[in-house]
Amino acid sequence: MEIRVPFVDLQPQYQKLKTEIDSAIFSTLQESNFIGGYRVTQFENDFAKLIGAKHCIGVANGTDAIYIVLKMLGIGNGDEVITVANSWISTSETITQAGAKPVFVDIDAKTYTINVDLIERAITPNTKAIIPVHLYGHAANLEPIIAICKKYNLYLIEDCAQSHLTKYNNQIVGTFGVASTFSFYPGKNLGAYGDAGAILTNDDELAKKIRMYANHGGLVKHQHEIEGINSRLDTIQAAILQVKLSHLRSWNELRNKHAEFYLEKLKGIGDLVLPYTTANVYHTYHLFVVRTKHRQALQHYLTNRGIQTAIHYPVALPNLPAYAYLQNKENEFAVATQFQSEILSLPMYADLVEEQLQLVCDNIKAFFKEM
Ligand SMILES: *Cc1c(COP(=O)(O)O)cnc(C)c1O
Repeated sequence: MEIRVPFVDLQPQYQKLKTEIDSAIFSTLQESNFIGGYRVTQFENDFAKLIGAKHCIGVANGTDAIYIVLKMLGIGNGDEVITVANSWISTSETITQAGAKPVFVDIDAKTYTINVDLIERAITPNTKAIIPVHLYGHAANLEPIIAICKKYNLYLIEDCAQSHLTKYNNQIVGTFGVASTFSFYPGKNLGAYGDAGAILTNDDELAKKIRMYANHGGLVKHQHEIEGINSRLDTIQAAILQVKLSHLRSWNELRNKHAEFYLEKLKGIGDLVLPYTTANVYHTYHLFVVRTKHRQALQHYLTNRGIQTAIHYPVALPNLPAYAYLQNKENEFAVATQFQSEILSLPMYADLVEEQLQLVCDNIKAFFKEM
């Protein structure tokens, strides 16, 4: 079957920006400065300014970003970090990498982000931080999370890998915690042409430590203040991201337009549950996730008609074999566990055209009609 609506297609965006991007890459090759340099600095400064943070440190990817923040906050052996049951594994594997223990909290049934009512009971004397994820582009409910962090003296680290320019109470996410982490994986709302990531913070001292740690523990070559790692934002990727950065806002607007189309056309069909947006949130629709008891059949039906979908995520984090050792109680993550077999991500990217959106909606309607 020929693919009529891909889940994500990065081609049209490249074609539209080809002149600018080719020229940015070609100039970088001409300059032959492939690590660091003004292009990385320029992107870091512009990204920090766009989100509204004092410091941006480019790193190799969004996973390293989380690990580095945890490490530089001194979180490690014997510590616990609270995070959410439904996310990409980067959010929790980095907690383990840092030497601490991930403690999962179930999701809110409406927004699919961390259920703030369940956080306090997960806190122990060893808890050091909370990592909420602004999943699918919808902000986690930050106000109560910030209150809990204050009450128990915990760090708030925002995982913004899926939420470039998402807003909560009219403020861009990534500016609420002690630090926030971004991924520029190609399919993210702001994507590089390879792996790339960034850390934002307003804390001067933390920013300096992070920059050192990500660069072998030193700011100047051969001056290693500490032992670090090699996790730098690649110069060619920075050049590409710089070109794309000025389009991010309009791409998010297009995603919102597509979401409105879906929300309008898919209203009241079968048992389909559509994404919910809290009134104080500007959603950036990294993903458009619907829910149905007939997920498997619907996905199969759409695949057979050339419509690609995906599942984010088919197994909630605590249910993965990787976390069997935590011996979590059955039903501890009831919502995430129920939803893992019901959620389906529909095609979503800025360059989708109306005929494609219409085709997706028509086929979903036809599926429920034929059922
Ligand atoms: C993509 C993603 C990451 C990791 O980003 P990479 O750049 O792929 O390492 C972390 N957290 C979440 C929620 C993500 O979606």
